[in-house]
Amino acid sequence: MSNSERKRSFVPSVIPPSERCGSASWFVFCGNKLLVLVKDGTASLINARDLGELGLKPIRQHFLGTLDGRHCYSAELAENTKAPDGMTFHGLRELWALLEEDLLTIAGLARQIIHWDRTNQFCSRCGGHMEPETERRAKTCPLCQRTNFPRLSPAIIVAVVKANKLLLARAHRHPPGLYSVIAGFVEPGETLEDCVRREVKEETGVDVKEIRYFGSQPWPFPDSLMTGFMAKYAGGEIAIEKNEIEDAGWFKADSFPPIPPKITIARQLIDRFVAERSRDQ
Ligand SMILES: [Zn+2]
Repeated sequence: MSNSERKRSFVPSVIPPSERCGSASWFVFCGNKLLVLVKDGTASLINARDLGELGLKPIRQHFLGTLDGRHCYSAELAENTKAPDGMTFHGLRELWALLEEDLLTIAGLARQIIHWDRTNQFCSRCGGHMEPETERRAKTCPLCQRTNFPRLSPAIIVAVVKANKLLLARAHRHPPGLYSVIAGFVEPGETLEDCVRREVKEETGVDVKEIRYFGSQPWPFPDSLMTGFMAKYAGGEIAIEKNEIEDAGWFKADSFPPIPPKITIARQLIDRFVAERSRDQ
């Protein structure tokens, strides 16, 4: 999205409108892939009053809210559903460069809601069939009254700085060649800062200090919230955790390996390091 483009206003909501007026924006997923029309390097969503107009029969759907007054819905298709003519299914990462940023954010919300709904059809306490509530994003078991809300798995991501160098690592899960800052899931009983110290130590053998909050980003793969931090090197030599990390090192801004794209909080942390370095010089 270009910077000059106006940021639209999304108002999340759970309660659907009493009637559909005009066409709505549909975030339609088959598995973890979103249905879009890709033309001239731009992806667009389905805009329709009802998915039946395109011959699609979703197994579940949710009202998500309104984007500049237009109703937005998520819908889940049965496995192996064929895309309507001219349309294709894509993972959200493939759409980072193709879909407008505010639509990507809502697509992430849709993916998380669909994942939660799909994996919480039955009560984990008694096996009863969970029933959706109408006034809030929740499901309740009619047998034992257990209530379930969409789960979020918090994670930290941290830029560790040592003088004019940044700690970057290549995890096995990264695309080939890509290096990024350190990230990991928060464990029960930890503060976010505890998690920053533990993850950096476990993955790279390095101690950190002066941990500063940076910002956060929903991370719908499938249900994380990335909380970003800047931290300073406090000691230790790099010793990688080989099960997760392939390589790690200290990099100057003018000799970075391939790094994540601009839309990610990982890249925003790296860009902040670069901006602070150039300001200090
Ligand atoms: Zn139950």
